[in-house]
Amino acid sequence: MTMILVYQETIMNNTNFKHRIAKEKETIRVMIDIYCKRKHKSTELCEECLALCDYALDRLTFCKFGDEKPPCRKCPIHCYRKDMREKIKEVMRFSGPRLIFYRPVETVRHLFCSSNRKGEVPGTRMKI
Ligand SMILES: [Zn+2]
Repeated sequence: MTMILVYQETIMNNTNFKHRIAKEKETIRVMIDIYCKRKHKSTELCEECLALCDYALDRLTFCKFGDEKPPCRKCPIHCYRKDMREKIKEVMRFSGPRLIFYRPVETVRHLFCSSNRKGEVPGTRMKI
């Protein structure tokens, strides 16, 4: 596992974070998809998750930092509405550990609240 993480990290460090927003959008979509399928047992995004997805994508679209954006949890501007923030946190807590296996580490780490103290992926002992 460690080797895979190191490998992914190396790749990401070499891509100078082009298209960061596009990657984050894709990641958000996948995370909400995983969450909805497992938690809400739906085949397609349910109404609630669809609204959350639209909201999250809009936040990224209108992020004033663009591709220079800092990790959301370190961002000086908290652009999420409180209720949406709670929802997206829950989605990330649930999907984050599942996502780490096939998404670049940096993308997952970049999303706000994707790691807790000590940089661990929530729900796992995995360091990111
Ligand atoms: Zn759902």
